[in-house]
Amino acid sequence: MTNKYDVVVIGAGWAGLAAAVRLTERGFKVSLFESAKQAGGRARAVSFDNHNVDNGQHLLIGAYTECLSLMQTVGINTSTSLKRLPLLLTVIDKKSSTLKLKAPALPAPLHLLYALFTAKGLKLKDRIAAINFGLYLKKNNYQLEQDISVETLFQRTGQTDILVRLLWEPLCLSTMNTPIKAASANVFMNVFKDAFTNKRKDADLLVPTVDLSNLFPNAAVKYIEDHGGKVYLKSRIENIEVDNNQVTSVTTKTDNTLQTFNTSKVIVATAPQNIKKLIADHSELNNINKNIEQFNYEPIVTVYLQYSKNTRLKQAMVGLSSTLSQWAFDRGIFCNQNGLISVVISCNGPHMAMDDDTLTQTVHDEIAMLFTTKPALTKSFVIREKRATFACTVNINDIRPKNETSIKGLFLAGDYTDTGYPATLEGAVRSGLAAAKHCI
Ligand SMILES: Cc1cc2nc3c(=O)[nH]c(=O)nc-3n(C[C@H](O)[C@H](O)[C@H](O)COP(=O)(O)OP(=O)(O)OC[C@H]3O[C@@H](n4cnc5c(N)ncnc54)[C@H](O)[C@@H]3O)c2cc1C
Repeated sequence: MTNKYDVVVIGAGWAGLAAAVRLTERGFKVSLFESAKQAGGRARAVSFDNHNVDNGQHLLIGAYTECLSLMQTVGINTSTSLKRLPLLLTVIDKKSSTLKLKAPALPAPLHLLYALFTAKGLKLKDRIAAINFGLYLKKNNYQLEQDISVETLFQRTGQTDILVRLLWEPLCLSTMNTPIKAASANVFMNVFKDAFTNKRKDADLLVPTVDLSNLFPNAAVKYIEDHGGKVYLKSRIENIEVDNNQVTSVTTKTDNTLQTFNTSKVIVATAPQNIKKLIADHSELNNINKNIEQFNYEPIVTVYLQYSKNTRLKQAMVGLSSTLSQWAFDRGIFCNQNGLISVVISCNGPHMAMDDDTLTQTVHDEIAMLFTTKPALTKSFVIREKRATFACTVNINDIRPKNETSIKGLFLAGDYTDTGYPATLEGAVRSGLAAAKHCI
């Protein structure tokens, strides 16, 4: 059977959904193909102990403006589906001091200056070093001609050990999922600029109060279908046909049945590692393939620990340092899953060699320092996303593909494309909107 669509989008992650929603909004007839049984890609709900959790605890920030605006387009109430927490960071070091930083209701960047000058756990030399960091970034307009590692940036600006360990490194790991030794300073500075230099609210932390599928993907699918589009789940695109350098159709496989869909416009919104098979036949795209082959990937592990319902952290999110555990979230505080703590570990490390039981026990022991009495663990669940994100390394922006390709009607979207952002929901959404704009 052959169908005709204005635009075919491949992949119903946040990038593909963003592209499909924007095109639908502009009156295009869109069909979206997703190989998995549900939409959402790397940001989706999974079930644990009869309730929904996420494939990885996610955190958004106020500067994710495109993400927030698109959620509203598909009918999500962002005030109730996200808990907005004015910047309040507590990072507890197992061996030494605790950092507590709270931004007051002052315009940016005064809120950050005030937060740094009043932060608990910092000495005068740390505060001065942090201010010098901000001044250096501003002087360089948040971009260096020659990209360097985040670690070199810290050295160049005289950041103290305490600042690096308790503030900058946790921020780098959580936003870029890349160790500071390898992470791109230019990407880090771009996120820093968006979060801290425009509006005070940009630095707010936004924690989902609903599972990730209900935060955007489910509503996006409904929006597309309610407006004349079609979303095909469990449908893998096997091939993109091109004639005379122009896209003509795609072939999909659903339940072992091949089907062709005619279209002159295709947006490929898969993760980078899945794109190779789709474009391998098209020698015009060899340069894209070559660049993607240079990408490395980093894992993210989330350990869910269920304690008795009255177990509570002092605040929704607490950082840990000198431990395997990096951030602990109290899901009782923001999504009514009382006693459920999610612990996030970004990047590779010794935890990847541990089996789930050993890792759970280690994390359970580590987060005991957040309570006066160690709570009893009743259930646990470990999710390892081995290729959670591309590694956002030095000079990565030089090899990230653009949204347009040299084949007419073929566009790319995905967090790995040239957004200037690390692999984040905002990066994914921005890439989808950019690809849709090219289509339009
Ligand atoms: C554990 C974890 C924690 C994270 N934490 C955060 C966070 O706190 N904040 C944040 O902003 N970001 C976070 N991220 C990153 C964020 O989730 C990703 O950047 C974003 O979801 C990527 O979206 P995408 O649409 O670009 O790609 P994907 O989500 O990978 O979507 C691609 C889709 O394409 C489908 N597909 C692949 N091949 C085909 C084919 N041939 N045919 C049809 N479909 C196909 C896949 O099944 C998938 O659904 C995290 C990611 C993970 C994994």
